[in-house]
Amino acid sequence: MTLSSFLIALLGSALALALLQLLAWARSAAKLERIAEEIAQGRHPRSFVIFGPHSLFRVASRLETILTAREELSGQIVQQGENFHGVLRNMMEGVAIVNHDHRVELANEVLVRQFGLDAEPSGRTILESLRVAEIDHLIREAFARQEAVSGEISLRGLPRSEAELFLIVNAVPMCGESGPPTHVLLVLHDITEHKRSEERQKEFLASVSHELRTPLSIFRGYVETLLHAPSSLAPEEVRRVLKILRRHSLRLSKLVNDLLTLSALEPGRMNLERAPVSLPHFFRRIEADLRQQLHEKRLDLIVTLAGNLPKVDADSFRLEQVFYNLVENAIQYSEPGSPIRVEADAERERVSIRVIDQGVGIPPADLPYVFDRFYRVDKTRSRQAGGTGLGLSIVKQIVDLHQGCIELASEPGRGTTVTVTLPAWPSSPPEGPIACQHIHRVAQGESPASAPESRPADRHLSRAS
Ligand code: ADP
Repeated sequence: MTLSSFLIALLGSALALALLQLLAWARSAAKLERIAEEIAQGRHPRSFVIFGPHSLFRVASRLETILTAREELSGQIVQQGENFHGVLRNMMEGVAIVNHDHRVELANEVLVRQFGLDAEPSGRTILESLRVAEIDHLIREAFARQEAVSGEISLRGLPRSEAELFLIVNAVPMCGESGPPTHVLLVLHDITEHKRSEERQKEFLASVSHELRTPLSIFRGYVETLLHAPSSLAPEEVRRVLKILRRHSLRLSKLVNDLLTLSALEPGRMNLERAPVSLPHFFRRIEADLRQQLHEKRLDLIVTLAGNLPKVDADSFRLEQVFYNLVENAIQYSEPGSPIRVEADAERERVSIRVIDQGVGIPPADLPYVFDRFYRVDKTRSRQAGGTGLGLSIVKQIVDLHQGCIELASEPGRGTTVTVTLPAWPSSPPEGPIACQHIHRVAQGESPASAPESRPADRHLSRAS
């Protein structure tokens, strides 16, 4: 080969090589462009590997690093968004974020529920959606003063709610890095239950004061009479006055005892000493203790317990309080001569005990309230008999503590049946409280006393004779 043909061949090869490299570069550049295009469209390219010039390979691998970082960042943003919404959803408070025009940009479901709204109020002004001028006013104040402001409001006539709603509203301005606030965060804390409990406490104190005042003023009146004109009173008159004083002092001490029991039964303060309680033995004791009272009113107590009755899982001292109260009520509200019955049977690890009388009964309108503290249907009769109006509320609280259930059925003139259902011993693992079908049930048709009798196995009669 001559030199010239050798040079031509060399040049040709160099040109071919350069052409090949140019083609490879163009292919790699096209692939890089495809990768960039996919990223721009929000997709993750299958591969970032580029065979070809090293510089293009480096660009592709940088793109992969940037894309991975971006994906991690958006993952974090999504996660933070989910956390934020999770927090909002699970908050006990109603929350809304409103902008400078008082338009709602975000609100949680609690707020929607608090105000009985049909839909989330986003996009509408707070006044349009909640229709509460005080809240709008608080937002304006928070923007103007650039500090958190709060107020207590009460609302009536909200959709889907009859009751009055009490809220504490906090309006907190939200600022960026610098400059005036752009939004206000509203937090609405429902304090209705707290208000009601305050109200109940006030009513309770007023009732206690009233209950104490009456016997105390009677005491004072009679003591003054005895002090100032002792000789003007005949001995039998003095005896009558002393009897009245004794009756009221007994009622006073019963009232104090009932109040102490109520306070001991407050949730969290009471530790039940549960043990197996045998009902035949238990009711024999109650009968013996109440024999005198039954005798005085010429009443019979008939106890009928089903065969194979399991023991009851209960605190026997507290259980005595329940049945003393119920049988004493039956005695108190029965006319002489009518029988009082106690029946018990068991079904699926539950023992039901009924105290049945044929006494004056309770009018339907009073039934929902008889478990309330100090509620009496016939105030004079209850006071005359030394009642405090606290008995049934104590009974209910004790039954609740045992996770039992109490039902009351009554018909004026025909009598009252109180059914207490308690867990049998040994208790199966706690499944929660026994479900009461009705707390207050009005008996219809049959007299409670003529309800079908359970198969008697242990039947004893306490005669008034
Ligand atoms: P009290 O000390 O007045 O008996 P309770 O809380 O035991 O208070 O009962 C509340 C009210 O329910 C009573 O005042 C009475 O009017 C009514 N009541 C309770 N038990 C009976 C019953 N067996 N028969 C008729 N009324 C009853």
